[in-house]
Amino acid sequence: MITPVMPTYARTEMGFVKGEGSWVIDEDGNKYLDAGAGIAVSVLGHAHPRLVQALTSQAQALWHTSNLYRIPNQERLAELLVDNTFADTVFFNNSGAEAVETAVKMARRHWHACGSPERNEIITLEHAFHGRTLGMISAAPSPKLTDGFAPLLPGFRQVVAGDLDEIASAVGENTAAILVEPILGEGGIIPLSDSYLKGLRKLCNDHGVLLILDEIQCGMGRTGKLFAHQWAGIAPDIMAIAKGIGGGFPLGACLATEKAASGMTVGTHGSTYGGNPLACAVGCEVLKIVSDEDFLQVVRRTAGQLRQGLEAIVAGHPNVFEDVRGSGLMLGLKCRSDNMNMEVVSAGYDQRILLVPAADNVVRILPPLNISPFEVATLIQGINRSAQSLDSKQDA
Ligand SMILES: *Cc1c(COP(=O)(O)O)cnc(C)c1O
Repeated sequence: MITPVMPTYARTEMGFVKGEGSWVIDEDGNKYLDAGAGIAVSVLGHAHPRLVQALTSQAQALWHTSNLYRIPNQERLAELLVDNTFADTVFFNNSGAEAVETAVKMARRHWHACGSPERNEIITLEHAFHGRTLGMISAAPSPKLTDGFAPLLPGFRQVVAGDLDEIASAVGENTAAILVEPILGEGGIIPLSDSYLKGLRKLCNDHGVLLILDEIQCGMGRTGKLFAHQWAGIAPDIMAIAKGIGGGFPLGACLATEKAASGMTVGTHGSTYGGNPLACAVGCEVLKIVSDEDFLQVVRRTAGQLRQGLEAIVAGHPNVFEDVRGSGLMLGLKCRSDNMNMEVVSAGYDQRILLVPAADNVVRILPPLNISPFEVATLIQGINRSAQSLDSKQDA
């Protein structure tokens, strides 16, 4: 018999009822160190006092009006995002997929407004992930996502990641934009090199194509800079963010330059909840904390400690792990044999740590950005013990 919750996820038995900082507590009172942060969402951990305060005081004032009216919190968050990024303007959504959809619509609409509606094709990368709407599974059509959902939307073309010549030869007179994640998350923590990102920026400039970045997972301080593209010294024309910006409250946004947003005039796009007062109250507080240079400096230091610990684990368990990938607090352990990532994640549960699997046989480590050095040490020990348990299983 089908369960009341539609069975689209292979869920674990644990169900959590409370969170405190980097820890979550299940129905039986067991405490787990949360090194997945709800998949890069809880950037400030659980129940951060400033976020609780921002949400509850807004909850007592006003929950919802509509985008028919000015929303002061939304204006404040838009201004903060504009002040801290390349962007001139922001559209708010409730999720990541919606934010990338907005980016794609904006790119098409830009060329429509420029009198070149034939420029409507978006180039994406193999192994990319942009969300689960029909549009986004068409943009990044891995068989696991698309099976049985045909027909997909036309207007997307995929190329292999990391090869500038290949993507250059895919750019043509119908190309509207190139859309990439600076670090492919679901695809298995695959960072695009600075020189590749610089090359994409130049390619887009040379052909007048828009560069769209999906920083839903790698943005909001995760790499030790506010946004991952800043490491490469480039800026996009359009950027989708979500996950971390709400710190656990559903919130996404599509940021753009004035030029890229030129087609987004009154009536072209909308959302009932997008940029709602509650979401934006939390978003403002998250951004104020995470954009602080001292905070980001601590993230980089914590990331160094975590990476060093993981390198040692890989060296000590060559039968389990191949290498460490990623940047900042967006790290991946590539496992040796097929499906070993699932075994590591489940061995982690026994050690009371939450890790997240990704494609390509990778285990993701995405802790809250404010995880303490002591908690990082606990995490490293937990992953090491998980690897030990798999080692002894193999010996047996
Ligand atoms: C999670 C994610 C999405 C989709 O976000 P949802 O909020 O689940 O719709 C899109 N792109 C990337 C890179 C993501 O990590």
